[in-house]
Amino acid sequence: MMDFSFSEEQELLRKTVRQFVDKEIMPYIREWDEKQHFETSILKRLADLGLMGVCIPEQYGGSGMDYNSLAIVCEELERGDTAFRTAVSVHTGLNSMTLLQWGNEQQKQKYLTALAKGYKVGAFGLTEPNAGSDVAAMQTTATKQGDYYILNGSKTWISLCDVADYFLVFAYTDKSKKHHGISAFIVEREWEGFSSKAIKGKLGIRAGNTGELFFDNVKIPKENLVGEEGEGFKIAMSALDNGRFTVAAGACGTIMASLEASLKYCHERSTFGKEIGRHQLVQQMIAKMEAGLQQSRLLVFRAGWLKNQGKRNTRETSLAKWQACDYAYEAANDAVQIHGAYGFSNEYPVERYLRNAKAPVIYEGTREIHTVMQAEYVLGYREDKPLSKTLPAWPFQAVEEVVK
Ligand SMILES: Cc1cc2nc3c(=O)[nH]c(=O)nc-3n(C[C@H](O)[C@H](O)[C@H](O)COP(=O)(O)OP(=O)(O)OC[C@H]3O[C@@H](n4cnc5c(N)ncnc54)[C@H](O)[C@@H]3O)c2cc1C
Repeated sequence: MMDFSFSEEQELLRKTVRQFVDKEIMPYIREWDEKQHFETSILKRLADLGLMGVCIPEQYGGSGMDYNSLAIVCEELERGDTAFRTAVSVHTGLNSMTLLQWGNEQQKQKYLTALAKGYKVGAFGLTEPNAGSDVAAMQTTATKQGDYYILNGSKTWISLCDVADYFLVFAYTDKSKKHHGISAFIVEREWEGFSSKAIKGKLGIRAGNTGELFFDNVKIPKENLVGEEGEGFKIAMSALDNGRFTVAAGACGTIMASLEASLKYCHERSTFGKEIGRHQLVQQMIAKMEAGLQQSRLLVFRAGWLKNQGKRNTRETSLAKWQACDYAYEAANDAVQIHGAYGFSNEYPVERYLRNAKAPVIYEGTREIHTVMQAEYVLGYREDKPLSKTLPAWPFQAVEEVVK
């Protein structure tokens, strides 16, 4: 059986986030973008609406909605600006959902619950100056010393670097084992030896907070190892299955925003005695946006459906992320084109959409990495093996049953 409808709860969720974005983000975003200012109060207000842990079980402080509800939140947030969707992507998609999947009960009680309620903010530290797509090239190390691991190294391009309280950090515990020597840790900002610094002068997501993390002999209690020693690479990749899902959903929001602005302008602007929307080459750009939006949504909600079923979705999520981000970039580019010279100025929001749409084509797997992944799946060179821990299927079971 196939069902393409949303529940009443999901429709209400969409309406709530849309109203929030229209009221709390749209009127201010141009200024925040210009000033490269990340408005942290938005996270607090998202938490008040239960949106910082929308698909985390209620037992762990979340709203207990399904995974496609997270997609709805991301679509609607990115319609406002990529910065706030990125925040939810790293907080919920990359951090909280990873703890839900891989964390032990103690870690869920101590960290996940605070994150899902939005009392604390989470982030994800994988990339390093010399290790982006090539994760195993990382140099950060965590050396076991009694009841602690001593963390040394740095990360870069980390979203919410100055804002997050808890970071999921990946480091080598045994470099000789290559991928199998990487481990995952929960690191708290307040610990001695931790510092961060924002990157300024970004092309896009200028209303977001992105930057570097530095670890100088940071003492991590051994209880903060997530999963087993050496499972870090697998944990990072499965985290990306969730992060990429949110990025893909957000890309639909960029397409929506590009389409919305373009439709308005098509009716406002006339050339050669008619609305520009009457010119067939302009219609072609509008039609491409609509096709991109509908196709991307189908891919995103299929990936979410697989998550709800508790099924592995690395392949489907990668396809959704790749396609939706490419469509979003094209849609934003066409939106600028439709606006002519006015699109080139920040008097209209479309130039921001174009600048913002570039980062998602790079982060959480570049376009090239996803292209290669898809080719390898089809050619039979890549196959996903079952993971030792899976994301719980939705509807969520009671904690006791999950633990069994
Ligand atoms: C705004 C922003 C926010 C980010 N937030 C986070 C975050 O919160 N946490 C985090 O850990 N990281 C984050 N990142 C980092 C991001 O995930 C990396 O930038 C990304 O993985 C690409 O790595 P790289 O920049 O080192 O590029 P590289 O890996 O050096 O790639 C350079 C170029 O080579 C190509 N290339 C590389 N390998 C191959 C290959 N095998 N086949 C074909 N082409 C290849 C790439 O596609 C790209 O075009 C963020 C980045 C940005 C821009």
